[in-house]
Amino acid sequence: RVMHLSPTVRTMAESATLMMSRRSRELRAEGRDIIDLSLGEPDQSPPAFVLEAAAEALRGPWHKYPPVNGYADVRQAIAHKFKRDNGLDYSADDIVVSTGAKQAIMNVILALVGPGDEVVIPAPYWVSYTEQVKLAGGTPVVVPSTLEEDWKPAVERIAAAITPRTRLLIFSSPCNPSGSVMTRAELEALAEVVARHPELYVISDEIYEHIVFQGTHQSFASLPGMAERTVTVNGLSKAFALTGWRLGYIGAPRWIAQAATKVQGQFTSGANSIAQRVAKACVEADPAVLAPMRADFLRRRDLMVEAVRRIPGWRCNVPQGAFYLLPDVSASFDGERIKGPEDLAMHLLDTAHVSLVEGRSFGAPGTLRISYATSDDLLLRAMERVAQALAQG
Ligand code: PMP
Ligand code: GLU
Repeated sequence: RVMHLSPTVRTMAESATLMMSRRSRELRAEGRDIIDLSLGEPDQSPPAFVLEAAAEALRGPWHKYPPVNGYADVRQAIAHKFKRDNGLDYSADDIVVSTGAKQAIMNVILALVGPGDEVVIPAPYWVSYTEQVKLAGGTPVVVPSTLEEDWKPAVERIAAAITPRTRLLIFSSPCNPSGSVMTRAELEALAEVVARHPELYVISDEIYEHIVFQGTHQSFASLPGMAERTVTVNGLSKAFALTGWRLGYIGAPRWIAQAATKVQGQFTSGANSIAQRVAKACVEADPAVLAPMRADFLRRRDLMVEAVRRIPGWRCNVPQGAFYLLPDVSASFDGERIKGPEDLAMHLLDTAHVSLVEGRSFGAPGTLRISYATSDDLLLRAMERVAQALAQG
């Protein structure tokens, strides 16, 4: 029957992050004590004001189809947030509210990319970028990097990957899966490259903007000339621990926002109405409310970098944002039973009962991705189990 599936679906990979989280859930249902560090999902509860906003929205008139691109006052509040936090001048008509940042990105890819088009994706990258590009019929062009480069490919190598067929460049900073943050100088160098290619557009995925441990987040679109060339992606999932509400948004040049709206009008008709009301409360809140969440992640980062470096042969950098580590674990490959990161992730799931995601799906084949968005206690227990399982071979 698989042969009856479309070629698109046959060539597209299942989301590696969601696949590992599904497996953890299945094993847990069988009674196994799994520690799940596979999913990029904050463990904290959403701030109290979020739940109040949701309760209030339920009592309001928000039960019918919303406008496809989002309620006007919600888009206005998002435009204001972009100005306040990122120095960006979007108006409400440049904003599209979607069912998660994931759909927001898919809309833009479908709006800009067609068969034969190339999309440059610096690696490591978030798993869905390449598969979404394939879904649109485009060709992902991956630019690899190494741990020694702090998992950031040199700008010259990104420039060298651009051809006359390149329509888009997609990256996240802070980066999922590496936690790396592009410096202002690196962003400026990238902007110079983009400026040289007038038909190239950029998706700057800034969903981890509030999880930066040093300095302040820099929006790519705020660099000279980049506002007309950039789609800025953000959402509620990470900053407000609202992954299940499925709410993301873009700020974009008007014509791209309109095209993304057209796409969305045929897919979902727009984002959930109550989630949109909650989004308004979130973007209107003072970002200072997020300081405790950031402090949690910084503490856990330090704890996990130390734990990872204690494992013989494992190496990792000290990421400046998000809540992931991407250690090079190739020292644990033995060429036989554990040939690569997929085998190692399965071995650790079976023997240590710890769920991690193999790095190949993120374009980093010698690695595993660890999400440290869970309690300190569970993190330490997980790393003890991993160390023990590896010591036993
Ligand atoms: N971009 C990045 C870099 C992510 O890590 C994720 C996953 N959380 C998303 C987009 C999608 O987020 P959402 O839950 O808003 O769909
Ligand atoms: N983006 C998160 C992650 O990378 C959640 C899972 C997903 O949407 O892929 O783990």
